[in-house]
Amino acid sequence: MRALAPRFPRPVRSLALASAVALAGSLTVVAQVADRVDHDAVYKIKEEGFQRSQVMEIASYLTDVHGPRLTGSPTYKQGAEWAVEKFNEWGLVNAKMEPFEFGRGWTNERFVAHVVEPQAYPVIGYPQAWTPGTDGPVTAEVVIAAIQNESDLEKFKGQLKGKIVLTQPMREVKASFDPLGSRYTEKELQEMQLLQDPSVQPGRRAMPNMPGGQPMDFRAMMALRQKRAKFFLDEGVAAVVDPGRGDGGTVFVQGGGSRNPKDPATAPQITLAIEHYGRIYRTLEKKIPVKMTLDVKNTFHDADQNSYNIVAEIPGSDPKLAAEVVMLGGHFDTWHAGTGATDNSAGSAVMMEAIRILKTSGLKMKRTVRIGLWGGEEQGLLGSRAYVREHFADRETMALKPDHAKFSAYYNVDNGTGAIRGVYLQGNEAVAPVFRTWMEPFHSLGMTALTPRNTGGTDHLAFDAVGLPGFQFIQDEVEYETRTHHSNMDVYERLQAGDMMKNAVIVASFVYHTANRDEKLPRKPLPKPQPPQQRGPVPTSAM
Ligand SMILES: [Zn+2]
Repeated sequence: MRALAPRFPRPVRSLALASAVALAGSLTVVAQVADRVDHDAVYKIKEEGFQRSQVMEIASYLTDVHGPRLTGSPTYKQGAEWAVEKFNEWGLVNAKMEPFEFGRGWTNERFVAHVVEPQAYPVIGYPQAWTPGTDGPVTAEVVIAAIQNESDLEKFKGQLKGKIVLTQPMREVKASFDPLGSRYTEKELQEMQLLQDPSVQPGRRAMPNMPGGQPMDFRAMMALRQKRAKFFLDEGVAAVVDPGRGDGGTVFVQGGGSRNPKDPATAPQITLAIEHYGRIYRTLEKKIPVKMTLDVKNTFHDADQNSYNIVAEIPGSDPKLAAEVVMLGGHFDTWHAGTGATDNSAGSAVMMEAIRILKTSGLKMKRTVRIGLWGGEEQGLLGSRAYVREHFADRETMALKPDHAKFSAYYNVDNGTGAIRGVYLQGNEAVAPVFRTWMEPFHSLGMTALTPRNTGGTDHLAFDAVGLPGFQFIQDEVEYETRTHHSNMDVYERLQAGDMMKNAVIVASFVYHTANRDEKLPRKPLPKPQPPQQRGPVPTSAM
């Protein structure tokens, strides 16, 4: 990534209309202007982004120094203050934190877990977010109580007081013959450019499985989960323990309690690495008693129940267009077991670097460019939804604010460290010829695909829901699902510097071209209001 990209002698014009018809195969798609690539600008962006990149240094601050950033935690706020400071240092304006209601914060300050009998050995584990600690070291007998239905509750009644409870049956751990990391092949990218079978509902998740592999109705599962949590609390258990997804020391762990201080309390809840869970489990199955010592210190933070979005701007240079806005962003919050490197310090660092590149290279942009780093994404896109409601439109009523008309596009990065390979158009096919043109200088970096498909689970949906063009990029998977996404191994080492640099350059170029385009980006028809009860399931933490 050190070599300088070849400089094109003059801008290459490409006619949007011709490519629109060719790509969409539809005469109804008519773009109004001929889009072109400003190769001088792309040259400057590549030069700054490849030769003087700061993206990995930003990422190191976001992970090693100001990570993890669970929404509502003091570290989140410190990280946000650091970002504002950086924006001011780079010469951006209106850098600030905008509050939205969230709930209580939570941090883990100490976690020690040892088996002490029949043999002593340390175990890998993490507390689940928003659960209480053990109130000092506790040594207790470990028991298995895998509660999978209501009658199991009766079976274990009165037997669990003071015990450390394994709540799930052991699962099989297989050898992995597939590589942990992957990139899209050309063939896969080509397939993505076709629409999915329309009979398949996009974004529908498989029915969640209960322990033991039985598919279960989602509501019934949530109801049983609540009953079980109350049961363990009422029984007075010392802690409840489950095995994380993942193996080889990787533990996937999220929340176990509630951020709402009025919700019922839970017992201390921890997740252990499957191999250590397995050793304890198999020992107990042999009727050999196991004792463990736990010392978990967690703190709830009730003083400030807001979380914060972070914004900053480069004002537009054209007096007529400066009131119009192009946004770039990603979520700033993370889960807590690692440092949130790929989810989503990667996206935050890429967006911060992209706006730094734009500002530092001194390129003129007619429209105002604004970065937005969101809180509460992992709890259901809370920050970006609050921001959109405050500034653009309420999706429940579709009452539009004046800024709705002055908005061009929002670009989001939240799929890990992987290189950008294209864009999800969210069904907005009128944008395809525009993006096809702007992608041209990045073919050599592997960015070639435009898919009309939707992708869900992250903050571009907050904009899309009120009819504003919001886009998420197609990124190489790398180790996202296999290793890093919401795991203890989501750390700086898993970030790929070359990918991060490419991504910042590509985003900067897309933002630059959007800011200088004659027209705002084409929009889809305005959606109908979405009263809360008509919405689908909240995409909690999908990305
Ligand atoms: Zn994410």
